[in-house]
Amino acid sequence: MKSTVLDLRTLSFVLMLVTAFLSVTMCFIWRIQRTYSGFGWWTIANLVAAIGFLFLSLRGTAPDYLSIVLGNCLAVGSNLLCLEGNRKFLRLGSGKWFSVGLLAAYAPLMIYFTYADNSVIIRIAVSSLFIGIISAHNWFIFNRSVQNQTHSTYRFARLTYFSFTLLMILRIAGTYAFSDINDFYAPDAIQSITYLIFTGFAILWTFQYLVLNNERMQQELQAAQVELEKLATIDFLTGFHNRRNFFEIGKSEIQRAKRFRHPLAVVMFDLDYFKQVNDTYGHAAGDLVLTEIADVCRKSLRGTDVLGRLGGEEFAVLLPHTKLSDAQTVAEHLRAVIEANATEFFSETIKITASFGVSDLTDYDEEIEIVLAKADALLFQAKRRGRNQVAADFSGNNSLKLAAV
Ligand code: GH3
Ligand code: MG
Ligand code: MG
Repeated sequence: MKSTVLDLRTLSFVLMLVTAFLSVTMCFIWRIQRTYSGFGWWTIANLVAAIGFLFLSLRGTAPDYLSIVLGNCLAVGSNLLCLEGNRKFLRLGSGKWFSVGLLAAYAPLMIYFTYADNSVIIRIAVSSLFIGIISAHNWFIFNRSVQNQTHSTYRFARLTYFSFTLLMILRIAGTYAFSDINDFYAPDAIQSITYLIFTGFAILWTFQYLVLNNERMQQELQAAQVELEKLATIDFLTGFHNRRNFFEIGKSEIQRAKRFRHPLAVVMFDLDYFKQVNDTYGHAAGDLVLTEIADVCRKSLRGTDVLGRLGGEEFAVLLPHTKLSDAQTVAEHLRAVIEANATEFFSETIKITASFGVSDLTDYDEEIEIVLAKADALLFQAKRRGRNQVAADFSGNNSLKLAAV
């Protein structure tokens, strides 16, 4: 049995090659791809692990303080660097005092069980205990973060650290129960299997880091996309749909209304003598008035109504499932709330009114541009008649027929 098992020196050498390769790969990715806080720590952790395993594989060739004490300290240190990387990635802040404390406790134990009481088994048990504690800490922080994350990678990470912690406990138990290793050169099944599993975990964790990093990048891209979309479709000052977006929504609402033969109405309005507000109180006051008018209008409408800012102080509201007479009532209500609104600008109170034009989809061949043009003509009529009023044209009206559908 023993002759078929690889010795720890060879396995340490293999681990050194694997972790060095992983570190170089991560360095490469670090250079070419967007990476997040924590990635650097993970990369350095792999590098430190590679150096640690290099020292461990030099057992017998290099002095004990290098091949046992420093080699093991670097192996534990690399786990702590991973932990720091995870904490940084999960935005938990630094855990450096935990790391410094663990290392300060671990190093003297290694020295003691190398020089004062040379025992491979105790060294394995102590190392497994410390690495197990770090792994449990990793499990804990991912477990805590998994709650507000829908990503399966967080669950995967939690699972890897949980399994690894369990493995360390089994290693301690297995070493005491079955391992008769008292010489690092001697092949030993339990230790060899553990080292092979270490190699597997080193690859698994690097894979995990890359996926975590990519997922974060994906999230960031999605958020940027949402923001861009908002910038391209929403008017910054009022929060209404901008002109282009309003027309696009209008087109699809008209199509829907035609398909299901639902009524649809449009209210257009323009603030009265708004130029005077700018001229009297300044542009900032004008902006504040626009924002407040937008707010009071939004509060007065249904969630399904579509509000658009067509130009400077010219707005439109698309009212799906609404017949002309109801749209007229809505417009009348908006007129009243705008008239009632008082904008406080420093010590000044600014009052304003608006004129309205209301039209509806009277012919199923009509396009949004036509419905809006009708409303615009009526708005002009309201202005001419003295402003602060609603104009609607019930003449060619077939909204009763629509409403009956
Ligand atoms: P009317 O009753 O005929 O509509 O008169 P009016 O003064 O409102 O109309 P006019 O079109 O002459 O003026 C509109 C003014 O709206 C001109 C422009 O300076 C102002 N305006 C347009 N966009 C903005 C904006 O984003 N902020 C501010 N503060 N003013 C704006
Ligand atoms: Mg105006
Ligand atoms: Mg105008």
